[in-house]
Amino acid sequence: MKRQLLVAALENGTVIDHIPCDKVFQVISLLKLDQNDHDAITIGMNLESERIGLKGIIKVANRFFTDEELNQLSVITPNVSLAIIRGYEVVEKKDVCMPPTLSGIISCPNPKCICNNEPMRTLFHAVPGTDRLRCHYCGTTVKQRDVALC
Ligand SMILES: [Zn+2]
Repeated sequence: MKRQLLVAALENGTVIDHIPCDKVFQVISLLKLDQNDHDAITIGMNLESERIGLKGIIKVANRFFTDEELNQLSVITPNVSLAIIRGYEVVEKKDVCMPPTLSGIISCPNPKCICNNEPMRTLFHAVPGTDRLRCHYCGTTVKQRDVALC
């Protein structure tokens, strides 16, 4: 019982669980939770997890993210689990999956790339069968675990 109360219950909203601790703040920034000034957001860090050791968890009251928003998470945290809560009950569980294209999410490591020199959104495509993403403009590939967010 004590364990379950480590993080307060949520009436309605989204729980993002099993976040590696070092990725919690990237998730916050990717979902623009740092710009949210009205919904209650609970952030847990260094919580015990049987699955991944220590984990982070984020609970956002009254927010239900689109699949597009959630799939962006796959870039930094491919194994998070998501639960949609309504009336204190889990009504839906979701997995994040890597979308085939990422627009304006990660930056190109090539300093000469047009997307680093013009005011434009970056565009990357997943390279099928690999853990790499390829820049649409200059063809530079980057490993998923090495990406830098815009
Ligand atoms: Zn590029």
